[in-house]
Amino acid sequence: MADANAECNIKVLCRFRPLNQSEIFRGDKFIPIFQGEDTVTFGGKSYVFDQVFPTNTTQEQVYNACAKQIVKDVLGGYNGTIFAYGQTSSGKTHTMEGNLHDPQGMGIIPRIAEDIFEHIFAMDENLEFHIKVSYFEIYMDKIRDLLDGVFYAGNSENTGCTERFVTSPEEVMDVIDEGKANRHVAVTNMNEHSSRSHSIFLINIKQENVETEQKLSGKLYLVDLAGSEKVSKTGAEGAVLDEAKNINKSLSALGNVISALAEGTKSHVPYRDSKMTRILQDSLGGNCRTTMFICCSPSSYNDVETKSTLMFGQRAKTIRNTVSVNLELTAEQWKKKYEKEKDKNRSLKETIQRLEAELNRWRNDVPLAPPESEEPLVDICSPCSPCTPCSIASSIVVHISAEERQKYEEEIRKLYKQLDDKDDEINHQSQMVEKLKEQMLDQEELLASSRGDSEKVQSELGRLQTENESAKAEVKEVLQALEELAVNYDQKSLAVEEKTMQNKLLAEELAKKMAHLMALEAELSRIQEVSSHQRKRIAEILNGLMRDLSEFSTIVGNRDIKLITGAIEEEFTVARLYISKIKSEVKSMVKRCRHLDNLQLECHRKMEETGRELSSCHLLISQHEAKIRSLTEYMHNMELKKRQLEDSYDSLSEELAKVQAQGTVMNIISVNQCSRTKEHLHPLVENQQMALEQQMESHREAHSKQLGRLRDEINEKEKTIDDLTDCNQKQRLELEQLHSDFECLRSREHHKSRQLEELTFLHERHEQSKQDLKGLEETVARELHTLHNLRKLFVQDLTTRVRKSAELEPDDSGGYITQKQKISFLENNLEQLTKVHKQLVRDNADLRCELPKLEKRLRSTAERVKALESALKEAKEGAMNDRHRYQQEVERIKDVMRARNPFRRPHCFHQSKQYRLSGTTPAKSPAHVSKITVVSYIHQPVYPCGQNNISQ
Ligand code: ADP
Ligand code: MG
Repeated sequence: MADANAECNIKVLCRFRPLNQSEIFRGDKFIPIFQGEDTVTFGGKSYVFDQVFPTNTTQEQVYNACAKQIVKDVLGGYNGTIFAYGQTSSGKTHTMEGNLHDPQGMGIIPRIAEDIFEHIFAMDENLEFHIKVSYFEIYMDKIRDLLDGVFYAGNSENTGCTERFVTSPEEVMDVIDEGKANRHVAVTNMNEHSSRSHSIFLINIKQENVETEQKLSGKLYLVDLAGSEKVSKTGAEGAVLDEAKNINKSLSALGNVISALAEGTKSHVPYRDSKMTRILQDSLGGNCRTTMFICCSPSSYNDVETKSTLMFGQRAKTIRNTVSVNLELTAEQWKKKYEKEKDKNRSLKETIQRLEAELNRWRNDVPLAPPESEEPLVDICSPCSPCTPCSIASSIVVHISAEERQKYEEEIRKLYKQLDDKDDEINHQSQMVEKLKEQMLDQEELLASSRGDSEKVQSELGRLQTENESAKAEVKEVLQALEELAVNYDQKSLAVEEKTMQNKLLAEELAKKMAHLMALEAELSRIQEVSSHQRKRIAEILNGLMRDLSEFSTIVGNRDIKLITGAIEEEFTVARLYISKIKSEVKSMVKRCRHLDNLQLECHRKMEETGRELSSCHLLISQHEAKIRSLTEYMHNMELKKRQLEDSYDSLSEELAKVQAQGTVMNIISVNQCSRTKEHLHPLVENQQMALEQQMESHREAHSKQLGRLRDEINEKEKTIDDLTDCNQKQRLELEQLHSDFECLRSREHHKSRQLEELTFLHERHEQSKQDLKGLEETVARELHTLHNLRKLFVQDLTTRVRKSAELEPDDSGGYITQKQKISFLENNLEQLTKVHKQLVRDNADLRCELPKLEKRLRSTAERVKALESALKEAKEGAMNDRHRYQQEVERIKDVMRARNPFRRPHCFHQSKQYRLSGTTPAKSPAHVSKITVVSYIHQPVYPCGQNNISQ
């Protein structure tokens, strides 16, 4: 890792605080004397440090003097540490933290926080920084994360401590505040606590050059150590003493480490003695630029502690660290480094070989002293052994003087030592080489895996891109489809609107039409009225005409006929036309009437048929009733029989009881007379008894058998009766249904016949009017004929008169005037007639208009008749079906009965009605009733009202 290794001493800075209030109050002396920048004389002894800060040094000066460089180093990839060492209240915290949020009073840590970011902003743009901070304390040799408040007993350096990424000085300050707040929360007396614990603020800076991928990292430990005072001075006792000892232990471990480092015996630095020294291993004699602040009190009261502190600083000053940049190498760099190390190794091996050869040569050429002469040699090595010149002289006998020998031996020892060192170094180097090889392999593996990963990622990327493309296309399609849908929707909604508009219009139109229809109907009724009125008027006019004609006839009789025949003739043709029309209408009416007659006949016929069916049903029912009656009689008989049997059973059981009583009596007698007639009577009585008992037994058996059989029979009969009752109920219901159907049909028939009567009445009226019209026609024709004749006569008369008047012109003036008067009268008459004629023509046109309406009505009547016919047909079919079903039911019941009583006559059902009416209620009458009600309840929906709606 080390690229450019450099050795440097720990920088030790001494800072004296001013006398505090209590010290001044106490009248303590101010001891230190500052000489130059780097020397302080304390208690008559001068101490030289890298720099000595007198009491009036500002925080900024302190910072600029030491910490600024450290920030640069850390950003350059070095590790750095700043310690503050000194007794409690000597100004350690003042130096490290100071007044955190005061620009003048703030100590090193807040200034570093600001400085780091200033530097970063001034640095290369290609550099990417990751800055993490941790804040923890070591108390009683335990690590406590001040950003989490958890104690860690772990051994490794700050493992598990919270690391906060920070991006600005404010965030760093926030973290410090948080840590300090946590620290305060955890303890009751902060001053005591801070004097016994070490607080460490760690800033970890990692940077990467985005262009070159060069990575650098640097750690900066900012350590505020526990108070260095002696335990005796604090007056600690008990647990506090333990604590103080513990703290002192870690501090003394720090002192031991520093002593060991100062003495240069690097093989035995007791880093592992405490957590703190382990964490700060790199800071002390390792890869770190370390600065130590020695904080001192100037008071005479603290002179011992101050001296000890100053001594500690002196010792620390001698520690040399080997610092190197924390550079993460690329594979290429690693390779180069490896090659270099290999070369170095080779050259070292060569040197070793060379030295070994020299050694051998030396060994061969310069023989060492014999074994017995080794003693003085050893003695020489010991510095405290007395070296007498005589003993040396006696030993230098062979070649060289004792001095020379000593020198040689010294040299040999040195060479041996060198050899050992070299061996160590070789070992170290080869280990290093191995490590490097391993690292190389790791790196290669990493490279290969990352290559594979990159390929995978590439293929994934390709796949994702294609997926993305397809998804895009899909999205496009979906969007298009959506657009289409939207357009469609718009169209549809438009169409819907249109349709609703149309609907509205149509509804309006319908309403209009309805109104129009109503109006037309009203018009029709009005027209009908008008037509009847006109008919009356026609009659009147005809009467008037007749009157006129009679007048004419009188006039004609008086030979005063005028020329009006043409108009009358026209009138008559119109009347004839009208009559013929009426005739045709009447004819059609007649036809319709005839048709209706036929219909009525058919209806009658159907009615008769239904009536016949009904009567047959009635017959059937009466038959069934008769059967029921006979069955009831049979039941009676059975009942009687049963009673007789029961009576006989009773008498027999009585007899049995009697016989048994006799038997017991006999027994008693036999027992009583036992002594006397034992030998004679006993067998006789016993025999008699046995026979009697046997007889009784057989009787009893026969009786019980008969009884059981009869009971069974009774049960069966009861069951049959129940069934038959059910059946009868069903039949009754059906009959009722048929009755209601029949009633319905009858009412319909009645209705139909009424309609027919109406129609026949209408027909008769039509006939009558027809005949009247015929008569009228004939009279009109006759009248016309007479009129024609009259006209002829009139014309003849007129011509003769004209001729005569021509002959008798002079005396004919009076006659002329009367003629003129007659003519004017006739003209008036003619005018009246023309008017009437016109009226008639108009009426005729009206009637012609009315004709289609009447035809329509006729058609509707015909349709109604047809509907009635179909309804009749349906009713008939329904009746047929009912009858059929009824017959089927009867058949079924018959079959059932036959199957049940094959030995009985086939008319043994339908008796329950009679049974119940007769009053001989059986023992299970309530059950019967309930059964019937149930049955009727069940049977009600069997005939749905659908068969009753024929009347509709
Ligand atoms: P320590 O942390 O070593 O126990 P502090 O830093 O808490 O000691 O210092 C104790 C007191 O002395 C504090 O009130 C602090 O303000 C004051 N003090 C320490 N050093 C200085 C200094 N250089 N100038 C002024 N006051 C100081
Ligand atoms: Mg402190």
